[in-house]
Amino acid sequence: MFSLNNLLRPHILTLMPYSSARDEYTGKEGTFLDANENPLGSTTDTGNYNRYPDPHQWAIKQHLAPIKGVRPEQIFLGNGSDEPIDLLVRATCVPGKDAILLMPPTYGMYEVSAAVNDVHITKVPLTADFQVDTNAVLAAITATTKLIWLCSPNNPSGNLLQPDAIRTILDAAHQSLVIVDEAYIDFADTPSWTSELDKYPNLVVLQTFSKAWGLAALRLGMCFASEELIRVLNKIKPPYNISAPTQTLALGALNNEAEKNKMVTEILQERQVLAENLRSLPSVQVVHPSDANFLLVQFADAKATFEYLIEQQVIVRDRSNVKLCDGCLRISVGTSDENERLLNVLGQMHEVTSPANLPLGTGDEATKPELVSTT
Ligand SMILES: *Cc1c(COP(=O)(O)O)cnc(C)c1O
Repeated sequence: MFSLNNLLRPHILTLMPYSSARDEYTGKEGTFLDANENPLGSTTDTGNYNRYPDPHQWAIKQHLAPIKGVRPEQIFLGNGSDEPIDLLVRATCVPGKDAILLMPPTYGMYEVSAAVNDVHITKVPLTADFQVDTNAVLAAITATTKLIWLCSPNNPSGNLLQPDAIRTILDAAHQSLVIVDEAYIDFADTPSWTSELDKYPNLVVLQTFSKAWGLAALRLGMCFASEELIRVLNKIKPPYNISAPTQTLALGALNNEAEKNKMVTEILQERQVLAENLRSLPSVQVVHPSDANFLLVQFADAKATFEYLIEQQVIVRDRSNVKLCDGCLRISVGTSDENERLLNVLGQMHEVTSPANLPLGTGDEATKPELVSTT
């Protein structure tokens, strides 16, 4: 049987959290002389920010809960997903003793957070088609495995992980938290694992406002879990972890879910067009199928392609040195103009460097044909 108390670091159980001024009095009206704020106003040109924000972001949680089909008490909001990623490690893993399990190639922050906290990292690579090697994962879980990280759709491969594999791990790993990072879920045609939260007390689901909602600069990540675990995360977070402007703007965004859905539809159409066009390029070997807003693309010469794109001020992510991603660049789906620019530059590169167009021994700028600007 899963027991959160057995999983948490012992001192976390007894820890007395910081009690903020805004925790002690939650009324809206009053003469506020409790938090040493500036009573006169702010030094900004617009708006007043002199009062501390709601430490528990209740307004957002109340709007978000029905959208996600969870209770407000099952939501933790962080300064980006990075914050819950780090808090989960700190709540459960004793440095130098406990371990997290991750499945490369995957998002880099799980490993960084473990390393920062001096926590062991067990790696069980995904299979060649970027799926969970379920038997190997089950075999690798030990009594010190506190967190198991799954990313679906996975970054950088872009694919959803098979639900059967996730379920098998949830059923088997009842001494660990199983975290499903769904940063890209809005781009995938599948329900969220949030619908399974009441069934699996060891399940944690991460989502973010940084991708589909278009709010990367605000830094707002969502963590869904049992009410018991959310209480623990609230206990150890910095008291005012979400700024007032972020809370106000996120609340506005939640009233605008239709706009998010519209943008997702447009990005999905662009993904389709981009993938087809990339497949027709001779320098492209594989365009991996994607359930996200990016494509993992294998090139005949990834390094040269990456360098050439940089020269032309088209910036993509070089994943060519990552295991299972040999020769791959990760390309975010842009606007149709941006995707066209990318495709033009890739097409030109082929013209410039293909043997037919490049006489032997001439690699210098002067012999390259004039490049057409598309912007
Ligand atoms: C982009 C991304 C996130 C989001 O991180 P934020 O800190 O919320 O911006 C989380 N997980 C994965 C796998 C991502 O690719």
